[in-house]
Amino acid sequence: MNRAVVGSLDDVRRVCHEVGQEVLEPARAETDAGVYPRRGLAALASVGMGAITVGEEYGGLGLSYEAFTAAVEVIASYCASTAMVYVMHTGAVERVKLAGSDSQKATYLAGASEGRIGSLAFSEPGTGGHFWYCTSQAARDGDGYVLVADKSFVTSAGEADWYVMQTRSPDSDAPENMSYFLIDGGSPGINTPFPWDALGLRGNSSGPMRFEDVRVKEEAVLGNHGDAAYWNDNAVDPVFLLGSSACWLGIATGAFERAVEHTKRTVHKDFNHSIGEYQVVRSYVADMSVKVAAARALTYEVARALDGFDRAGQPLGSDLEALWRLKILTSKTVIEVTNLALQVSGGRGYRRGAIEQAYRDGRAGAIMGPTNEMCAEWIAKTALDMPLGYWYEGKDV
Ligand SMILES: Cc1cc2nc3c(=O)[nH]c(=O)nc-3n(C[C@H](O)[C@H](O)[C@H](O)COP(=O)(O)OP(=O)(O)OC[C@H]3O[C@@H](n4cnc5c(N)ncnc54)[C@H](O)[C@@H]3O)c2cc1C
Repeated sequence: MNRAVVGSLDDVRRVCHEVGQEVLEPARAETDAGVYPRRGLAALASVGMGAITVGEEYGGLGLSYEAFTAAVEVIASYCASTAMVYVMHTGAVERVKLAGSDSQKATYLAGASEGRIGSLAFSEPGTGGHFWYCTSQAARDGDGYVLVADKSFVTSAGEADWYVMQTRSPDSDAPENMSYFLIDGGSPGINTPFPWDALGLRGNSSGPMRFEDVRVKEEAVLGNHGDAAYWNDNAVDPVFLLGSSACWLGIATGAFERAVEHTKRTVHKDFNHSIGEYQVVRSYVADMSVKVAAARALTYEVARALDGFDRAGQPLGSDLEALWRLKILTSKTVIEVTNLALQVSGGRGYRRGAIEQAYRDGRAGAIMGPTNEMCAEWIAKTALDMPLGYWYEGKDV
């Protein structure tokens, strides 16, 4: 495949469909059985997707957030695990792109264009989805740092080439004073205590990670000490919320298309008509169509808004509320649409296969951080002019 031709949204969709048909779909059952989708990721990198939003000076495609959204949507319609790995990877890449040093960019952005996979190691067992608070902390160690942390869920745990790891800044007693460290996947002291085994997204290796006395040099600090919370709002969250929403949309789209196919194709011999000839089934088809269209409209609207912020030199987190709304809409949509897709597909939808898998994969959306409950709280509190409710609000920190 020729990377030079990938320059428009249509190109992105076309090459992702090609990878989907040639690599992701044939490996779907294997990935669902828990095999990390290395071949699919390599195939995506070979057509430039590994560094889709990265500038050409680092070997990237230099495309928009809308193009990233289109890529995720198509990838997820074939394999949600691959799509989620890709979203986390792009979130890590964006953080380096927006505030990494020149040498970090040369290493990690160029590496991304060559297929090296990054991920985000944030969530901790003691604080769940409260990413504004770290119980773990970096300690100074000669001219570098020693890192000790338990992370509860890390997509690509033990599989990624590098991680952006968030922990409390050294010398700070404020848990919200956090820093990022860039950690090589092969660093001594990294381990994955037990493998990922979950309802869905079974190929994305989102298990726990332990960092036991991992030693890094000063160059591993990504940005400045204490600025992780700012970059969570202005790099990681916007790209993650947009990308994961595109993932939920893509799963819903894939399930809808498969359900429509089933509805057209399956014929009851007694009446000699298809399932689609039952009015009640058609109403489900219409419901799915409406939900997918609404989710798609908002997803691309938010993607274009991020592109607008980017072009105007404004922070990507300039409208976090729009991203929280999008997250709730798309993660509810995927649950509702995959449920209907399974219903109209009957026993064959319930049997192991693409539709029941979509039903399981899509369920993760509402749970992944910030959870839907947290997003709902923030949306409502914003509307009501109430403080958002971060633990440190009102404290003198
Ligand atoms: C498939 C998958 C992949 C993941 N990948 C990564 C990754 O790559 N990197 C990473 O760092 N993390 C990752 N996570 C972690 C994910 O972001 C967390 O699961 C999520 O933040 C929720 O945390 P928790 O499971 O500990 O639940 P908790 O935070 O303990 O939440 C439990 C319940 O309490 C509710 N709740 C919690 N706090 C509030 C609040 N303030 N207001 C109202 N309700 C609240 C929640 O909505 C939920 O219903 C992944 C998780 C999954 C499922």
